[in-house]
Amino acid sequence: PPDVEELGRSTWTFLHSLTAAYPTQASTEQQTEMRSFLKLFSRLYPCWVCADDFRTWMAEPSGRNEPRLASRADFGTWMCEAHNEVNRKLGKKEFDCRFWEERWRTGWKD
Ligand code: FAD
Repeated sequence: PPDVEELGRSTWTFLHSLTAAYPTQASTEQQTEMRSFLKLFSRLYPCWVCADDFRTWMAEPSGRNEPRLASRADFGTWMCEAHNEVNRKLGKKEFDCRFWEERWRTGWKD
């Protein structure tokens, strides 16, 4: 199987791309569908410690890390925060979530 780092890079590309393609305003059905995907993803991701920690983070008792799915802006920011949680755990630099869309949807303007 691919190693945890290679799998992680590819999977983050997929997950952030999913947020980039999400509707600007999501219907109830679209939100329900994505909530189901995230729940299953967090059980099936084939790095088990990664999956366990991700699931625990999402289910944090205060509810503060629950997926925010009302809009692309909400979901994109939420995914960026989820990624930052892993970055912190691994001692990597955090990403400034104001720029998630430049990185993953529109491209940097420079
Ligand atoms: P990655 O973290 O893979 O990031 C890829 C690119 O995304 C970066 O180059 C940057 O351009 C961009 N980016 C970085 N941060 C953000 C952000 N916050 N928002 C938007 N874009 C960003 N590895 C472990 O060793 N232990 C774990 O427990 C673990 N858990 C994981 C859980 C999940 C759900 C996933 C998808 C991966 C997990 N990984 C884990 C893998 C880890 O997150 C990295 O993917 C891997 O270490 C490779 O890191 P990287 O430095 O190449 O960049």
